[in-house]
Amino acid sequence: MTLVSDELHLKSEELNNYWMPFTANRQFKGAPRLIAKAKGMYYWDDQGRQILDGIAGLWCCNVGHNHPRVVEAIQKQAGVLDYAPPFQMGNPLQFELANRLADITPGSLNKVFYTNSGSESVDTALKIAIAYHRARGEGSRVRLIGRERGYHGVGFGGIAVGGMVANRKMFGTLMAGTDHLPQTWNLKEQAYSHGQPAWGAHLADELERLVALHDASTIAAVIVEPVAGSAGVLIPPVGYLQRLREICDKHGILLIFDEVITGFGRLGTAFGSQALGVTPDLMTVAKGITSGTVPMGAVFAKDEIYDTFMSGPPHMIELFHGYTYSGHPLACAAGIAVQQVYQEEGLFQRAAELAPYFELAVHSLKGAPHVIDCRNLGLMGAVELQGRAGSPTAKAFEVFLKCYERGVLIRTTGDILAFTPSLIVQKAEIDRIFGTVREVLETVA
Ligand code: PLP
Repeated sequence: MTLVSDELHLKSEELNNYWMPFTANRQFKGAPRLIAKAKGMYYWDDQGRQILDGIAGLWCCNVGHNHPRVVEAIQKQAGVLDYAPPFQMGNPLQFELANRLADITPGSLNKVFYTNSGSESVDTALKIAIAYHRARGEGSRVRLIGRERGYHGVGFGGIAVGGMVANRKMFGTLMAGTDHLPQTWNLKEQAYSHGQPAWGAHLADELERLVALHDASTIAAVIVEPVAGSAGVLIPPVGYLQRLREICDKHGILLIFDEVITGFGRLGTAFGSQALGVTPDLMTVAKGITSGTVPMGAVFAKDEIYDTFMSGPPHMIELFHGYTYSGHPLACAAGIAVQQVYQEEGLFQRAAELAPYFELAVHSLKGAPHVIDCRNLGLMGAVELQGRAGSPTAKAFEVFLKCYERGVLIRTTGDILAFTPSLIVQKAEIDRIFGTVREVLETVA
């Protein structure tokens, strides 16, 4: 079978007009890496070369690529209903998917608001939090607290509460009204922790300091990723999230978990909050909701939050917010099929069962050249390298390129290598990912 057709080959002059996101455009266009096809755990590039996907696309293709059931659902839906307006109208699939999602969310997080991405989910959740307090007569609660090294997408709300400096520094004047908790990773105290580090729960007490500084009456919500993904897989210390929950409850502050990465099985349960034993008031998801096949995100809200909005004349719109593509029929069809696959193939349970093997594989890189930390939780893992003096990120990027040359796709952030395979990954594939990284680390200066 030929995997690529002639149209998939691009000449260098054909690469000029696409401004690529979060990409070194000039480096890429000088030596393009073009993905042309996918199946299961593998990609094929435009030359027909097979590449093992160690990061589930971009932490999203949790059921593996081109799952036949999901492909069929999307194809079928495209011929039945292409689009229907989501405002003052609905389509049956939106309700079916919402019911399926409510069945697996923790606590009373039963109300589902659809978006098209993680960034939109974050902006939506932040707006719901502020509007909720106002609906309850506490309109002064408008401040939003994020965390250093948090990633909440690239909308203005998301970068305001986010804590990655490169994403924020250009846009400062538009981001008033936020503050940040300290990040929780500490090399001296936590290096080579298996699972949740024992040290660091006290860092949650910094929220008390921010409450003392701003006063609880001005704070709407705290948003954190249960495990910070994009900043390099920073695992919450034992007891840290519980402490945040307690302080939020004490001061009437909403707790938002951004589960765009940790949602849909990554930690061996439907959502990270279940694996970590803390239930937030609002939860943002995307990626795994459709296993990356059709853009979709969602916010889950507690029943009590939704009910607070359901006052006033019934013909009035309760929340002035939504997107043209909220609950798009193709995304809903994909989402329903993906939820069926998770359930029927027992993929969340599979992730939980594989996690100990994955943990050993991540930590097998302890002692490899350049490695200063290995960390893991569920099927999330990271290996941190000693960066090159005066040239941060260069070493990890070289490792990324060399792994790719050897047919393994990993992800880097700063000088950290991140690993998040699909939940269908086989043990031999885990071995190959980490074996390749070790081999490459030995070639890097
Ligand atoms: N929130 C978290 C925790 C993420 O990891 C991401 C993306 O990686 C986002 C939000 C943004 O999602 P999107 O790129 O779909 O806007």
